[in-house]
Amino acid sequence: MVDAIRLKSFVDTCWNEAIVPSLTEYIRIPNKSPAYDALWAEHGYMDDAVKLMERWARERIAALPGATLEVVRLPGRTPVIFIEVPGQGQDTVLLYGHLDKQPEMKGWWDGFGPWTPVLKDDRLYGRGGADDGYAMYGSIAALAALKDQGVAHARCVILIEACEESGSFDLPFYIDHLAARIGKPSLVVCLDSGCGNYEQLWLTTSLRGLAMGTLTVRVLSEGVHSGDASGIVPSSFRIARLLLSRLEDEATGKILPDELYVQVPSERIAQAREAARVLGPDVYAKLPLAAGTLPMADDLTELVLNRTWRPQLSVIGADGLTSVAEAGNVLLPFTTLKLSLRLPPTLEGAKAVEVVTKLLAKEVPYNAQVEVKLDRGSTGWDALALAPWLAASVARASQTAFGKPPVYMGEGGSIPFMGMLGEKFPGTQFVITGVLGPHSNAHGPNEFLHIPTGKRVTMAIAQIVADHHTRAG
Ligand SMILES: [Zn+2]
Repeated sequence: MVDAIRLKSFVDTCWNEAIVPSLTEYIRIPNKSPAYDALWAEHGYMDDAVKLMERWARERIAALPGATLEVVRLPGRTPVIFIEVPGQGQDTVLLYGHLDKQPEMKGWWDGFGPWTPVLKDDRLYGRGGADDGYAMYGSIAALAALKDQGVAHARCVILIEACEESGSFDLPFYIDHLAARIGKPSLVVCLDSGCGNYEQLWLTTSLRGLAMGTLTVRVLSEGVHSGDASGIVPSSFRIARLLLSRLEDEATGKILPDELYVQVPSERIAQAREAARVLGPDVYAKLPLAAGTLPMADDLTELVLNRTWRPQLSVIGADGLTSVAEAGNVLLPFTTLKLSLRLPPTLEGAKAVEVVTKLLAKEVPYNAQVEVKLDRGSTGWDALALAPWLAASVARASQTAFGKPPVYMGEGGSIPFMGMLGEKFPGTQFVITGVLGPHSNAHGPNEFLHIPTGKRVTMAIAQIVADHHTRAG
């Protein structure tokens, strides 16, 4: 039995005295994921972050008999921190997080910045504290809290990777390399997800997949006077628009090809309805909508389903366009758009890539040169039905840590590793949760870690890992 009062006091102290100070240092390090810092190895920031976490973790796990830590480095790949904490019985719990970061982004408030930690109103601002630096600290604190009151747990393996924000392309190699040491986990805990509010425990029931890449339309070998050429040479921007309209209805944002949809399971529709009820208008009000901007639908459940089970397109970058300040009257030679297409959880990523590539590249208007370069596409993830012991444990954990029942909801983002693990360990139960709640703005400016939620999630994980060990089946 976990003593809730003792748990709270242990976790509070650990966060206040040890975790927040170390995360503050962690935020200062610009250890961007390899996709955003090709020279990450030379720059050494990733190593700095690893060293900081390693030092902290070694000190803490000294209190856990037999616990070991290794920084595993396969040649040419981002490192992994691998921690083993012995436990009772034959079973294994795998706890996962990542230490690489998204790039800076513009729009930080005065005095705030990606690499400038600011502690204000229980929030620790800066890049990577919430996504996902806290995961290793929270995992170790949860196990230390159980040790503090002599509560037994299974063997636990903590795996912290450094390639998540780039699609975890290094991770499969580590999973193979470490397979024998990981074993076969019956429970995976992932602390890299979101929460709908900061008042209860949110369990992620699904994650979307992702197809990402570029669409390039070229009409000229070099730019020419727009007065001379417009009306003769078709605009590359217009052709790109035409091509995108094959994929997306520009009036509604609905993705058009039927092959990019799946049947949404009825349990997930019911959970979406419940999440919409709990959240109310916060479903959209949590986002920094510009004054007067309306969400894409009036029905809140529809919005939740749009975000979690339906494909949606974002144009996330462009090349070939001149900046406004420098733009002259030139008909531009090409337009390149970077596309990010979120996919329903159970749709195969590779299949989506095939559909989209064919759709955009066929029968191009004016026979312009079109190149569609999409990555492999990643498949999302949909949770197995929760085992009865885990459903009961999650309810208990939310009550213990937050004093409120848990909520189940899909997330709109992707955590590539969960799809990989789901395939590798088909019978495994997953607890995917996190601190990325309203306005926490991971990937954007003014990202913050809501410290009280970090503490409560830590408490909840301690409870769940304890229950996992005593479960009846
Ligand atoms: Zn993350």
